Amino acid sequence: MFKGKLLSLSTLFIALISSVQSAIHYNQGGSDWTGTCATGKSQSPVDIPVDNISGSSINSKYFRSNKLLDIMVSQKSMSNITLQDNIYTYQYSFSDGYLAFWDENDSLQTFQLLQFHVHAPSEHTFNGQYYDVEVHFVHKHTTENRLVAFSVLFDTKAGGDKENEFIKSMSVGAQNQSVISTLPAMNLFKKLDMNQLYHYEGSLTTPPCNEIVSWIIVHDPQQISSAQVKAFNDKWKNNQTFAAGKGNNRGIQNLNQRLIYKKDDPRASNGVNLIASILPLFVLLFGFF
Ligand SMILES: [Zn+2]
Repeated sequence: MFKGKLLSLSTLFIALISSVQSAIHYNQGGSDWTGTCATGKSQSPVDIPVDNISGSSINSKYFRSNKLLDIMVSQKSMSNITLQDNIYTYQYSFSDGYLAFWDENDSLQTFQLLQFHVHAPSEHTFNGQYYDVEVHFVHKHTTENRLVAFSVLFDTKAGGDKENEFIKSMSVGAQNQSVISTLPAMNLFKKLDMNQLYHYEGSLTTPPCNEIVSWIIVHDPQQISSAQVKAFNDKWKNNQTFAAGKGNNRGIQNLNQRLIYKKDDPRASNGVNLIASILPLFVLLFGFF
């Protein structure tokens, strides 16, 4: 019964996200979007001035190192993945995959993976710098009406100009609604330096820009080949028929009074340890592994 409730909540959120897709455009980088997009004070994306946060030395009142912040990623099996070409992004929908997140107050929250999608160039910036590609893994809280977006970056310069296995498996350019058998998501997550973790409270980066998203960003750009970046750029950034050749990234939003947290305590350093430690937790929480 609990599982049934979980699925219906997920369906609702997918419907919410899907219902606004046709209205999304990037002609002005989102600056002409209305409603909460225009009036909200906790909008995304933001710039993350990574140089201002070094160890436990804090150079700004808006940034905090935090020993409690942590994340664990788990998967049951990511299979039967549906690829949707929504014109303004590629979206991949899941029915499996979980994430556990300890916030700055050491409160454990668990989320179910709904979908991931692609932005090129990145939406978040780091010391004002864009990366080639940003992938958002969108998770729904297992009981509450909120989301976690787990963000992974790819860049030919910062990460290396080599073909990325995960990007390759995404079958970019495939037909609408095609089904991909498997995606090596865990191989990707295992490579990430989870100590380079940033967290802040923000919004959806597409209309209606609901301020219900806890952002978790790993500042560890992964390798991607120039050809792989080109496949995305040909679709958005270098495509004159798409927003006059701008990317599918919303412009940077004001941080206002929000804090950005950086993980400070290397409790777990990579995905291998994470999986081993998270599995008993999920058996406890969900009972259907
Ligand atoms: Zn996104």
